[in-house]
Amino acid sequence: MTTERIALIPGDGIGREVVPAALAVLEAVGRRHGIAFTYDEFDWSCERYLTEGAMMPADGLDRIRGHDAIFLGAVGAPGVPDHVSLWGLLIPIRRQFQQYVNLRPIRVFDGLDSPVRGAVAGEVDFVVVRENVEGEYSEIGGRMSRGFPDELAVQEAVFTRAGVTRLVDFGLDLAERRRSYGAAAASPRDGYVTSATKSNGIVHTMPFWDEIVAERTALRPAIRWDQEHIDALSAKLVLDPARFDVIVASNLFGDILSDLAAAVAGGIGIAPAANLNPARDFPSMFEPVHGSAPDIAGRGIANPIGAIWTAAMMLDHLGHLEAAAEVENAIAAVLAAREVRTPDLGGTATTTSFTQAVLDAVEAR
Ligand code: ATP
Ligand code: MG
Repeated sequence: MTTERIALIPGDGIGREVVPAALAVLEAVGRRHGIAFTYDEFDWSCERYLTEGAMMPADGLDRIRGHDAIFLGAVGAPGVPDHVSLWGLLIPIRRQFQQYVNLRPIRVFDGLDSPVRGAVAGEVDFVVVRENVEGEYSEIGGRMSRGFPDELAVQEAVFTRAGVTRLVDFGLDLAERRRSYGAAAASPRDGYVTSATKSNGIVHTMPFWDEIVAERTALRPAIRWDQEHIDALSAKLVLDPARFDVIVASNLFGDILSDLAAAVAGGIGIAPAANLNPARDFPSMFEPVHGSAPDIAGRGIANPIGAIWTAAMMLDHLGHLEAAAEVENAIAAVLAAREVRTPDLGGTATTTSFTQAVLDAVEAR
């Protein structure tokens, strides 16, 4: 019996509704695979910020440093600006724990309509590998001559050789892994890497990015890869999403691509995400893409798929590959049956009844 010690941060709004759903599935699949979970729960949230003035206590990071993983529901509240939850919780965790990969799997499920014509279940199945700690989102820059006609703002992007190299290498490792387990299906796309660039317009950082991608891929002759300018890549993501397998992208480009891709797959309620420290010297953080959804919070109708799929990503990262696949297959089976779904997907199920359907699918295997 392996024991995984999880730091649990349900957060705000529907975060607190979808986290129990994900835990129920973890428990069920854990029983079948000999995995025990222990949870330490933290009330870090915008609600805490409103009463205590901080998202988390000053020694917050030290309290979760030793856990095997961090599972977060969602943070956000009306009246609390996004930068509070970002800079007060999410960014410190990502940076201090060197979670330099943001991983967003995209899959069109049978039984779920994609808004994109021609996005066929079973064919659209790719991952966006986003750089998560450097790049365009830096604090370096400034503003001058406020209010005057010559007013200007400068924002620097920071790309380091080490930072780009480790991100690209992660993408290449993932492509190799996807090619090997895709081998039975023999899709020509499995293991294909696409690098998002804009070296025709951004003349310093993006050529540097391209050079490193070329150097790292040259070390792995078996990997097929290509690069696309971000504008053309965005168009292809909508026109022909089945052509992609692993997309590696800088922080800004990856941010945009992953939201676009989530929309292609059928909505924010199903999208999972992981902030990974692949070196495993710190815990990684798993959080569904959606926010706290104050408009539906407290009504028990949040779609738990994003959180449950995120739990599958956590299992995968912790080395429980079979258990992870079982959870993803259970989600796919419930969707394919076209019976139970939450209101955001046009159904009438509650968070609890949808989760029960997933639990039944797990047990039915
Ligand atoms: P936050 O401030 O926390 O980012 P938000 O409302 O800005 O919250 P989301 O929480 O992502 O952003 O919500 C965007 C929209 O998608 C809302 O209408 C919300 O109800 C809906 N939504 C998000 N997640 C889910 C979900 N899991 N199930 C159903 N609807 C969802
Ligand atoms: Mg928001």
